[in-house]
Amino acid sequence: MKKIGLIGGMSWESTALYYQNINRDVARRLGGLRSARVHLVSLDFQEIADLQKQGDWLRMTEILQTAARQLESSGAEVLLICTNTMHRIAPEVQSVTPLPLLHIADVTADAVLAAGLHKVGLLGTRFTMEQAFMRDLLAARGIACLVPDEAGRAEVHRIIFEELCRSVVLESSRQKLIALVQQLVAQGAQGVILGCTELTMILRPDDAGVPSFDTTALHAMAAVDFSLS
Ligand code: GLU
Repeated sequence: MKKIGLIGGMSWESTALYYQNINRDVARRLGGLRSARVHLVSLDFQEIADLQKQGDWLRMTEILQTAARQLESSGAEVLLICTNTMHRIAPEVQSVTPLPLLHIADVTADAVLAAGLHKVGLLGTRFTMEQAFMRDLLAARGIACLVPDEAGRAEVHRIIFEELCRSVVLESSRQKLIALVQQLVAQGAQGVILGCTELTMILRPDDAGVPSFDTTALHAMAAVDFSLS
């Protein structure tokens, strides 16, 4: 079993889900008391969120590169960045380590294509919904993404940072997210990508009425596939 290196804490709520998903999958596949060999560097999310607000991607790159090097020297054999948003700097993180970095867009694209879909809704932080780093990789795999309008994007971003990352899960927010997904479906989305690793805390697989793609679970599963390969 290869050792899985996680760069987490963004937020800790979703990193806990990675840890749970990875261990459950290893136990399911190997049986007995088997559990995953996981190395975790858990960052202080306040620092990262402040830098995101300031747009200081250079400083965030330095922080994640340091985390990647720490995981490499601790003996990790594969690297995961446990957030969609921070994949904006995935190439820079990959550039400082020979460890393979499992990209969240790749594993998500695999799942969307396996389901036979080519047009999906994408919910996530403003960065993920508005910038090119996720959408371009999905487009390169033949997957078009629809995102909510400005007001909808602001609301999804707010729910992530003001609620989910602070362990708050509200039914009223769940209903708002469902309404946004339904709007995207009306515009032609055949499924929806939960493109933020906290969204699985609030949206259930059958909420959308169309297939939903839980990036947290898909990314964790890919780590286990690699670990056991
Ligand atoms: N975990 C979230 C994501 O998947 C948001 C936190 C962040 O900004 O990194 O994008």
